[in-house]
Amino acid sequence: MICPCDTGHNYAECCALLHQGAQAQEPAAVMRARFSAFKLQLQDFVLASWHPDTRPAELRLSSHTRWGRLQIHQAIQTGHQGQVQFDAYFFEEGRWGIQQETSLFLKESGIWYYHSGEAAIKQFTPERNAPCPCGSGIKYKRCCLKRA
Ligand SMILES: [Zn+2]
Ligand SMILES: [Zn+2]
Repeated sequence: MICPCDTGHNYAECCALLHQGAQAQEPAAVMRARFSAFKLQLQDFVLASWHPDTRPAELRLSSHTRWGRLQIHQAIQTGHQGQVQFDAYFFEEGRWGIQQETSLFLKESGIWYYHSGEAAIKQFTPERNAPCPCGSGIKYKRCCLKRA
């Protein structure tokens, strides 16, 4: 299976490593692994990669939200802090949307954690000839538009 995080790598050689307990070398890798975990509904990983100061007591991932493509625009790292700016596409109640977020990551005892994020949610209408927001790599008109 191709990894949901949009690297184009095999899941087994990509986010699965982190999901199975390997430590990320950089904030962007945690970001990717968290996105994959949302998509695969791996709630334990989503919680475990959350900074203890901001981690919710419990989490129920919505099965109504179907996550699509992830686009990381910028990842910066200075010492024990990192910021990742990304767009995440999702499909919910018959519509596509984008979550545009800048997340803050902190490194503690050698482990990178997601701390918090500033997000804006927007509606999104895919273009027929653009890559499908589901992340298939196929044009929208030949992918999810056909199935809609
Ligand atoms: Zn991945
Ligand atoms: Zn599609």
